[in-house]
Amino acid sequence: MIRSNYFQDNPDLQLTYNSLIDWKEIIEAYEQGFGDAKKYKETGEEALAMAPNTVEEAKDYYTSVLDSLGELMGTMVSQKSQEMDHEGLKYKDGKVTFPKAQDECYEALRDAGLMPMAISRKYHGLGLPVLLQALGCDIAARADAAFCLAFGNINIVEIMERFASQEMCDKWLPDIADGKYSAAMALTEPNYGSDLPSVQTKAVQGDDGVWRLTGTKRFITHACGYKDAPSVILTLARTGSPTSGARGLSFFLVQGKDVHVANIEHKMGLHCSPTCEVVFEDSPGELIGKTGYGLVKYSMGMMNAARLAIAAQSLGIANGAYFEAKKYASERIQFGKPIEEIPAVRKMLDKMEREIVASRALVIEAARSIDLYHWKKEHLLKEEGRPEKEVNKDETLRFWEKMADLLTPLSKYYASEGCIDVADDAIQIHGGAGYTEEYDVARIYRDSRITTIYEGTTQLQTVAAIGGVVAGMSPTGILRQYIEREMGAINPGQDLKSLQESLEQCVRDYKSITSGQKKDELAFEVVETCARFLCGLLLEKSMQKLTGEDLEKRQKLTEQYHLDSLAIVEGNKMKLSRAAAGAAVAVG
Ligand SMILES: Cc1cc2nc3c(=O)[nH]c(=O)nc-3n(C[C@H](O)[C@H](O)[C@H](O)COP(=O)(O)OP(=O)(O)OC[C@H]3O[C@@H](n4cnc5c(N)ncnc54)[C@H](O)[C@@H]3O)c2cc1C
Repeated sequence: MIRSNYFQDNPDLQLTYNSLIDWKEIIEAYEQGFGDAKKYKETGEEALAMAPNTVEEAKDYYTSVLDSLGELMGTMVSQKSQEMDHEGLKYKDGKVTFPKAQDECYEALRDAGLMPMAISRKYHGLGLPVLLQALGCDIAARADAAFCLAFGNINIVEIMERFASQEMCDKWLPDIADGKYSAAMALTEPNYGSDLPSVQTKAVQGDDGVWRLTGTKRFITHACGYKDAPSVILTLARTGSPTSGARGLSFFLVQGKDVHVANIEHKMGLHCSPTCEVVFEDSPGELIGKTGYGLVKYSMGMMNAARLAIAAQSLGIANGAYFEAKKYASERIQFGKPIEEIPAVRKMLDKMEREIVASRALVIEAARSIDLYHWKKEHLLKEEGRPEKEVNKDETLRFWEKMADLLTPLSKYYASEGCIDVADDAIQIHGGAGYTEEYDVARIYRDSRITTIYEGTTQLQTVAAIGGVVAGMSPTGILRQYIEREMGAINPGQDLKSLQESLEQCVRDYKSITSGQKKDELAFEVVETCARFLCGLLLEKSMQKLTGEDLEKRQKLTEQYHLDSLAIVEGNKMKLSRAAAGAAVAVG
């Protein structure tokens, strides 16, 4: 892998960070009146010592976090990723052993205090907005997607801050943030993956008041913990009857010491990330929040954050593939010239670049939409003690929450599908060398393949997004409001206008299809059309903030991106209009 600082050496990441993100908006949304800094002045509470007082201080702090992360990921982790992948994990009698190189990387990241990105300051976390967490994940995954999971896994406990009792948060979160524990999320079972409402691991409360869980979970990342950091496993289990569906599910914290890791999977990629089969046998669990909300509120909340993290991970993997391919293409000579000068190769490199730039724009917008509602909502509920009913009436919060609900599955699907294509092109550019394990792109390609599967497959992201697209495009819909506002703020080009009209037509045709089966079949075409239009819109919006060479480059890239989109969307329109015409004939 290229050895450099993965924050500093990435032109699009730098451009995004320095010129495209409205940091004032994000920082003010996160800091909520710089309450932590004020509290530190009043109380001297050590955990709040790093809390910024101003937008400038916050931005400097973010820069230093990403800079340190970029340095460790780009000069240490990336240099060991091949070795870690080839050595892999060992499993014996319920214990998992990690490659020595991975232990060194893990300790370096933990000692640098860079892991608890999503945990707030009062619980010893770094206290970072979602947007910064996404950038961190982007940087980490470029170095090594499997290590990225070890590095980031403790952050899933962020869900406890939202729904667990104060007592439970005080008991667990500081130790988790300090690295004394690692974390895992146990939803999937051998018979239930996408179909989470049916999971059957059972939780029963004894006369002593203790909940005990029995069942088997499958594919649980890091349930085995990490070396001297045992896991806490956030587990979905049934407190209602076997047929009680989603409403019969609750959420528990189970300690790794109370379960048995029966096996780890031998996988095509992510070789140094343990994917565990976990057996619960009367394992004690602490209930998080209230019974009955395990899936509908808590796991969904956790999964939404994890989905965005996988979108950012996909972006990082794609970056790794692109930069390695770009370097190879500049060095490999065929027919007396570097292959990057051959039009067919140049075309692949350019497409890889524009897909990454478009994905990043969408992932950043999804993260932004979360930051623009989540922190204020938490502040109003927890700090000001306002009733939920009243908070939910806030129009701006509702707007961004709905946008986040749409942009999260959209960006997860888009970035993950794109990352596999980019990794595939990276192999192609390496020719035969790409098919060997000598070069990093083989590992990157294998690792990329999981991104469209875990945290909900692309098909499930489509299910999650389609309602938001269709309802959102109704005359008073949220998506329509968003599009009108954003299009009104720029001077959109003709291609973007055509894409907007195509989205309108796709939604119209989709709505007029009468067969539920056909609708399910064609939902992806609508969601894809929407994602590509929104990416195009965000690219045009970004041009407003650029000048000189940056603007010129972005203009060319956007033109090409629109052309790709128009070609794809034309096919989608055709499929949808035929189905709609079929429905009209059937009705007639
Ligand atoms: C490396 C790895 C790490 C993982 N880590 C974790 C973890 O930490 N915690 C955890 O709980 N789980 C984890 N998982 C599980 C992962 O989230 C599931 O594999 C994923 O959700 C898909 O479930 P499944 O494998 O049972 O596939 P299935 O649900 O059987 O799906 C098979 C196919 O059917 C499609 N399909 C199913 N239902 C529908 C539908 N309604 N509409 C359209 N298409 C549908 C799917 O898209 C897919 O193409 C991990 C998996 C892997 C491989």
